[in-house]
Amino acid sequence: MITDAEHLASWVGRLVRIPSVNPQHAGPRSGPGGEEQYAQALAGWFRELGADTVELHEIEPGRPNVYGIWEGRTDRWLVLDSHTDTVTVEHCTGDPFDGRIADGRVYGRGAVDTKASMGTMLAVLEAARAEGLAPRHNLVLVGTVSEEAGGLIGAEGFRTWAEARGLRPTDLIVAEPTMCAPIYGHKGGVSFDVEITGASAHSATPHLGRNAITAAAHLVVALDEEHRRLQTLDADTEVGRGTLTVTLVNGGTGGNVVPDRCTLTVGRRVVPFEDNEVVAAELAALIERSCPLPVTFTRTYLGTGAFYQSPDSELVRRIADWAGSTPEVAPYGTNALRYHGFAENMVVFGPGSIDDAHKAVEFVTLDELARCADVFTRWIEPTERSR
Ligand SMILES: [Zn+2]
Repeated sequence: MITDAEHLASWVGRLVRIPSVNPQHAGPRSGPGGEEQYAQALAGWFRELGADTVELHEIEPGRPNVYGIWEGRTDRWLVLDSHTDTVTVEHCTGDPFDGRIADGRVYGRGAVDTKASMGTMLAVLEAARAEGLAPRHNLVLVGTVSEEAGGLIGAEGFRTWAEARGLRPTDLIVAEPTMCAPIYGHKGGVSFDVEITGASAHSATPHLGRNAITAAAHLVVALDEEHRRLQTLDADTEVGRGTLTVTLVNGGTGGNVVPDRCTLTVGRRVVPFEDNEVVAAELAALIERSCPLPVTFTRTYLGTGAFYQSPDSELVRRIADWAGSTPEVAPYGTNALRYHGFAENMVVFGPGSIDDAHKAVEFVTLDELARCADVFTRWIEPTERSR
């Protein structure tokens, strides 16, 4: 079975040429409709490449996931989830959607994050089909919306869809650029929006008011101290320690008015074996205790726990073996956060480097595509078609 690098690259280029910027990202070239066009195109290719079932699953109006199922001859269910959205292109130099192939690379938005994995799998299936072969195991290709922004609702939707059908993945690969290393863990998160309420007054007589920004300052310092305390704890796993950061502050109405209101966004990354509900409850108590003025929680996002499994688990070992790579943990989060307890084995895996994602010039190398094609081929084990 031949999947030469040019064949792989041409598939990735084809996917890059369908813009699918997340509609919540900035700029005139962001959605709506990009994810949908890409999903429609994938549905067409899934059919051409012999999928037994192809389905679009609307997650939000105009934002469908796409699923393709190839029925195999075993009872194993292999699932590849490759998100269909990309980040914004407003900071790109050149045409971000030309998908050109040059210098041993495919260029363009989504080339590495994360159309490379889907393109590689389609090329592998095409090469197999040309030789009368099809995946030995049941294979589900999943294109999910809304990974780059909007709360991983695509992954959530796919899980609900699969569970309603009694589909339990044996192996689940969440596609992200990992330099073909199987990622076996990363942090989860909890976050809050809080509003501090004071009382306004003329700034010449601040003692007549209660300054919400000053109260927020006390709270920010207390949260920073808590972050530093977390860094002194022993890390239970390679994923490391929990972190705590304030990311947004908003307050004040005029240069001569004591502010009666200030809002903060607080994010806490959670590590394996931490319970999100416990973390959130403790953090909420700390916020109330540390703020000298009344606090209201305007949004509580319980998120999900960290993704973690043993680096010795079966799929992790097999992929590391096939790719000649070493199992790793990741500093970033992925769709794996929505799949806790869903699949028997799960890894985050894909060609190319996260260092080349989200940049003004994005690319994936042909070498990495070839390495990934090898892993996918061994994973799906193309065999003589029965029909
Ligand atoms: Zn990605």
